Amino acid sequence: MLLYLHIPFCHRICPYCSFYKHTPGPSSAGDFINALSREAKHRIAQTNEAPRTIYLGGGTPSMLSPSHLTQLFESLQESIDFSKLDEVTLEANPATFDAKKAALFRELGVTRVSLGIQSFAPHVLATLGREHSPDEAARSVEILHDAGIPHINIDLMFSIPGQTKSDWESTLTRAIELKPHHISAYNLTYEEDTAFFESLQRGEMRENEDIDAEHFHLAHDLLLSNGFDHYETSNYAQAGHQSSHNLGYWQGEDYLGLGPSAVTTIGNTRSKNIPDTARYIEQVNTLGHALGEAEHIDPESRRIERIALGLRTRMGIPMSLLDTAARSRATTLATEGLAHIDHDTLTLVGRGRALVDPIAAELI
Ligand code: SF4
Repeated sequence: MLLYLHIPFCHRICPYCSFYKHTPGPSSAGDFINALSREAKHRIAQTNEAPRTIYLGGGTPSMLSPSHLTQLFESLQESIDFSKLDEVTLEANPATFDAKKAALFRELGVTRVSLGIQSFAPHVLATLGREHSPDEAARSVEILHDAGIPHINIDLMFSIPGQTKSDWESTLTRAIELKPHHISAYNLTYEEDTAFFESLQRGEMRENEDIDAEHFHLAHDLLLSNGFDHYETSNYAQAGHQSSHNLGYWQGEDYLGLGPSAVTTIGNTRSKNIPDTARYIEQVNTLGHALGEAEHIDPESRRIERIALGLRTRMGIPMSLLDTAARSRATTLATEGLAHIDHDTLTLVGRGRALVDPIAAELI
């Protein structure tokens, strides 16, 4: 089982972000950490299963104070045997931690830090509403190396309005020079309920599939020529540095989500915590959990999810997930050089890897 903890606080809100998050506001971080610790004790005990990975996402978990981080990890250590864990990831933003805090991450058992840098071009960072400078981002990577974090990921984004091919190439080059173990290169998506989505609706921003493909292939070629393995549509890793938590998720492992808005999928049931920090705290303090809506996942929905997520990975999917018409289409994709079929496993290759969403839609 995978364990996810959602920390909803951010210093400021990025206009493209659809995650549940807010500035600290009236909900005190102390009350939140108390509630999260209580929920962890209650729900981990209920599952009766030791998690294989822990992922602290958000929001900006690196914003938490050293004492809140310590309190949270101490309470997790009471519920979980950390020696059994394969990976402990903490999402971080540049300039939200210094050398002392990075050393604390390591001391608390964090093995992987995922740093949201997005770009090294100042005008692109301004479009994205990011508050860090390129130099602060670079310094943050150096701090993590110095602290001995074994797995460092840098998140980057492409196809951003105003971002040229040369901006994207310089960003990738500077990221590679910082020697991270892993780079995630995401195509900007316009998610509902974001300021970017509204700009798209008003025609002030435009999607461009040609630019998406050009930027995707630029990243692919540059990262592969610098020793990275392309193991998932948006993810590249040096040998031995793949994200164990994310791989588990893409391969359909059960996951327990704690914190406001966090989703849990165990067996055929999917549930979601209340996406409201104040109500989350109140409910956890009363009931020990903050579960909101729950749904049954039928086998057909599971099959569709496994195809959509599995095709994104270099491990691909078993052909047995496909119906007869889709198997025949997969064979055609293989003859077109977009896919590879080996021992009943279908993987996307070449241009097929950039076309994962339309191909998955065809096969489903
Ligand atoms: S992108 Fe990250 S830093 Fe920006 S609002 Fe979303 S969670 Fe916060």
